[in-house]
Amino acid sequence: MSETKQKGFATRAIHDGQEPEQLTGAVSVPIYATSTYQQDALGAPRLGYEYARVTNPTRDRLEANLASLEGGLAARVFASGMAAVTAFCMMMKLGDHVVAGDNLYGGSVRFFNQVMADFGITFTYVDTRDPAEVAKAIRPETRYVFLETPTNPLMSLTDIAAVSQVAHAKGVEVIVDNTFMSPFFQRPLELGADMVLHSTTKYLNGHSDGLGGVIVCSTQQQADKLAFLQKASGGIMSPFECFLILRGVKTLAVRMKQHDVNGRRVAEYLSKHPKVAKVLYPGLASHPQHELALRQMKGFGGMITFDTGSLKNAEKVLKAVKVCTLAESLGGVETLISHPASMTHAAVGAEGRAKIGLTDGMVRISVGIEEVEDILADLDQALAVL
Ligand SMILES: *Cc1c(COP(=O)(O)O)cnc(C)c1O
Repeated sequence: MSETKQKGFATRAIHDGQEPEQLTGAVSVPIYATSTYQQDALGAPRLGYEYARVTNPTRDRLEANLASLEGGLAARVFASGMAAVTAFCMMMKLGDHVVAGDNLYGGSVRFFNQVMADFGITFTYVDTRDPAEVAKAIRPETRYVFLETPTNPLMSLTDIAAVSQVAHAKGVEVIVDNTFMSPFFQRPLELGADMVLHSTTKYLNGHSDGLGGVIVCSTQQQADKLAFLQKASGGIMSPFECFLILRGVKTLAVRMKQHDVNGRRVAEYLSKHPKVAKVLYPGLASHPQHELALRQMKGFGGMITFDTGSLKNAEKVLKAVKVCTLAESLGGVETLISHPASMTHAAVGAEGRAKIGLTDGMVRISVGIEEVEDILADLDQALAVL
């Protein structure tokens, strides 16, 4: 660490990039709703601002904030999590190869296989729980390892430090989709990863009212390339969405603490319920990688998957809930409940789902920060119909 002690996470969330504005002293970062900027003379843009696809002051502030929270050198924000994944792919060229986790967010797999494959970029999917599997899949043309931990919805973990070690030994960079944990509970760059990606749509914004994505960089080369891609390909985050995330992130620390408290209670409750066949939550001692969770994460968060035993049972439970809302997405203050096999992971196909152990009876909850007793009572009355 540097000579001056770094301020705490909650302080950085509220203050880094969120300093009062110079002109008026506005405490909240203004939304700079402008497409272009007056230039004082030919070739003399004021403060370097020329055109809003390239740079925008609201966006600069958010990028500074998110870089600080992940402990990165710089951050680049995009219009959605998938726009961030797209930008990541555009860092590559024809012939490049990626070793990816075998249980990634369905949208990432769809983009890799149904879009990028047509541009001559190849992907090998492996169980990244085993660093040896990652090492084995690395080829001379491999540029990146792309992984998620915990995975969606199986909640399996990857040892970020161990995978970074095997990748770096072969000159390959590691990018971690950290959407499920947020930087409050897990900081991949500190564990050795080279880049971090988020769908800011989820915990970082936290209020289910905006879309966005970010890539946090550890090198100037990555930051420059991604800034060029913001300008060249244009999938940037709008100033209004930047404002929403700057606003949302101020409460990230308190929200994540409560998601974690509620998540633990719900996981414990489910693990004792006679109608629940299995609960997947890294915070439970029964999770096969609980020890890694304790070592790598600072909390367990609010994402839980449980098995009701059959598609019919899952349907019954999802129909009966009243406090929990049946919807895709996650990471908002409200509890969302979903059915991965027919919703987020439909595109993976029955065979693909069977291969990774994703069953039709599985239900995923993004535990919100409502009064936990109300969430428990809701699940209790819903499970009672089985
Ligand atoms: C939602 C999500 C994405 C995609 O983000 P969008 O903002 O929906 O485009 C990527 N990765 C993970 C883990 C996600 O949950």
